[in-house]
Amino acid sequence: MQNIASGVCVTKRMVDDAVDFAHASGIVMLNKPDESSRDRQKSSHAPFTMYPSSFSKSAVSQTQSVQDDIHSLFHKVSRDVSFLEEVLRSTIAVDSFVKNLFEIYKATLTNEFAQKVEIGIYRSDYMLQKSPGEPVVFLPKQIEINTMAASFFGIGTNKVKRLQQYNLRNASITCDNLDMPENGALDGIARVMVEGWKKYGNPEALFVFMINKSETNIYDQRAIEYAMYEYDPAVKVRRKVFNDCISTTRTDQDGKLFIDDEEVAVVYFRTCYMPDHFPTTKHWEVRKLIELSCAIKSPSIAHQLVGSKKLQQVLAKPGVLEKFIKDENAVKRLRDTFAELYSLDMNAAGDAAVKLALERPEGFVLKPQREGGGNNLYDSEMVDRLTEIGRDERRCAYILMEKIIPPVQKNYIIYDRVCSMANTVSELGIFGAFLTNGDEVTNSHTVGHLLRSKSDKHKDGGVAAGVAVLDSPILI
Ligand code: ADP
Ligand code: MG
Repeated sequence: MQNIASGVCVTKRMVDDAVDFAHASGIVMLNKPDESSRDRQKSSHAPFTMYPSSFSKSAVSQTQSVQDDIHSLFHKVSRDVSFLEEVLRSTIAVDSFVKNLFEIYKATLTNEFAQKVEIGIYRSDYMLQKSPGEPVVFLPKQIEINTMAASFFGIGTNKVKRLQQYNLRNASITCDNLDMPENGALDGIARVMVEGWKKYGNPEALFVFMINKSETNIYDQRAIEYAMYEYDPAVKVRRKVFNDCISTTRTDQDGKLFIDDEEVAVVYFRTCYMPDHFPTTKHWEVRKLIELSCAIKSPSIAHQLVGSKKLQQVLAKPGVLEKFIKDENAVKRLRDTFAELYSLDMNAAGDAAVKLALERPEGFVLKPQREGGGNNLYDSEMVDRLTEIGRDERRCAYILMEKIIPPVQKNYIIYDRVCSMANTVSELGIFGAFLTNGDEVTNSHTVGHLLRSKSDKHKDGGVAAGVAVLDSPILI
């Protein structure tokens, strides 16, 4: 693999220049809150790699080519109540978070104010896996699909490409013959978000970004808001902290949603994807009130549920894709991107999967139904958890996945103004956005990508989790 960073030395001036560029172009995050300070939280540049990383061009086009298939597949699944119920049954029995989501989902099925329009903002993540045999090629394998609160299209896409082009220029490396693809994720998603808002039919009603109190990734969200204004200055975005909305959210007799006495057209969730986001039953009631209102949701509870890792595992089973997709080529395209996934249900197949993981722990990842990084278990932690759970039903809360070993390349990681050389591995995310109208998927677009890289010493990932850093690809 072509490796730009090896052989280039980085001076302190180049690091300072890069950090300034990152700040100036808004590649910035809030620092973790300092409880002892009454000042507004300070911000720092988001971590990034100094130079772009090489990534397989054919893997990018292959993963882009399945994004539309993913939108229509997941929308179909989200509307197939009996299938979803069957898939999630064992998980619901042991995972109260998924159980609560599913109860709201069931309540939507008889909802007199059901909203046909949904806004889907998806990011499908992949790592490269060496093919067996000769010649060696790297094939994309799907790590997960984020159907909710998919982040970093605000600050992590074209802005990072521009930053790295600047860094290359600073190192006297010409970009002319480097294939660094344009990245339309921010504008592309902002457009679909605004088009969704228009479908509500009241230009006075708000587009609400529902967020967490201690959110650190606010500039990523702000960048989206500004891109929406750029596309249509008439849209009215408001940021609301979910916790603050608990006593100020209501619906009227027509199912219209009001927060702080203002009518809401769209609720875009950048919260509500973790148990911590629901500290009381009242929080669940408000989430349900929002879902049953006629406001447009992004995502709906149905689309949140189809992002579960359990569904990812079931869709990879032989014959399941075929139930939803008639086009054989589309089935093959999708299946080619799937890694080996195993159910841990209480049956012979589940027992065999546990045995596999205990015999060769370095080959697998144990995943619960959670988002946001830091939840998966590897190596001895995985063994300890599986051993502790034993033959208890609690194992149904997890799935098992083969561990992908992606190619390693050298790069400089800039973390809090400090530069260090690392052996890095990369994860490619493909962004897509769409609207729905009942059974139909409309406005489906594959809009751009996100490359995140991390030192190969880390097992888990996530920029917000402090492990991965923002990067962009050179296609080779
Ligand atoms: P989350 O919902 O927490 O983001 P992911 O499934 O994306 O969960 O896993 C988090 C991180 O763990 C990924 O970004 C990746 O770095 C690593 N990871 C997950 N699955 C695998 C796998 N099968 N092989 C190698 N690394 C993995
Ligand atoms: Mg992830």
